[in-house]
Amino acid sequence: MLQVKNIQASVAEDSGNTPILRGIDFSVQAGEFHLILGVNGSGKSTFGKVLLGSSQYKQMGGSILFCGEEISEKPTFERAQMGIFLSHQSPPALEGISVKEVLRAADKSSNHKRALFHFKKSLKESLSSSGLSHSFMDRDLNVGASGGERKKMEIASLLTIGAKLAFLDEIDSGLDVDALKMVSEGINRFAENKENAVILVSHSETILKYVNPTHVHVFCGGKIVASGGIELAEKIHKEGYGAVQDCVSCLKSI
Ligand code: ADP
Ligand code: MG
Repeated sequence: MLQVKNIQASVAEDSGNTPILRGIDFSVQAGEFHLILGVNGSGKSTFGKVLLGSSQYKQMGGSILFCGEEISEKPTFERAQMGIFLSHQSPPALEGISVKEVLRAADKSSNHKRALFHFKKSLKESLSSSGLSHSFMDRDLNVGASGGERKKMEIASLLTIGAKLAFLDEIDSGLDVDALKMVSEGINRFAENKENAVILVSHSETILKYVNPTHVHVFCGGKIVASGGIELAEKIHKEGYGAVQDCVSCLKSI
């Protein structure tokens, strides 16, 4: 589904081209669930934004193939239309635009536009699966919503617009245990369709009680320094990044 080869990226306005991503190689197949760990400032969020072609960054090399197509030059909306979804670390509020309007607009412009009846049915189911009442449909997006409700709304959006690849950036941060369970259920609902794939960035061990990553990667200094299975996450949560030799050498070299 996704094949990233040696991408490098820096901040768009940085005339010195100081790299934030320094050669990322990363592949995801349909049905896989990848967990990304890494110290603060190691490039995890930048990676998600570069995948979606954020104008904040410039990609300086490498390639990004999504479903066999090179997307590095494509604008963000085309990447989203193709089925890549990025959740916001801090979801913004949009005054004057309801949840229904935002998601219907996304649905209409996607490559699999549905009849209004099917769209509404899907939106209601997605809100329920994410632990939100149907009244959210007619509320302005995230206006007056709590942090937890905003994170649930990200999952409801993901489930409604029918993306294939979800990049969920710290979707679990700031959630109480009940909200975390609801968000995890939503993620699992998306992941149970084996045509989909998930990339989850998280610092917390707690979410691993509810979701089952198939692959784990560790970011450091804009690179992936270690990859493995769930045992890698367990080791880091128990012993810290110092337990991963490649992380220690990377941190020394920064
Ligand atoms: P992570 O998500 O792993 O904590 P980020 O991807 O947010 O890390 O950031 C990686 C590094 O790039 C940090 O040092 C951060 O300060 C820097 N960075 C990211 N985006 C910008 C930006 N728009 N302007 C300046 N520096 C940035
Ligand atoms: Mg981040």
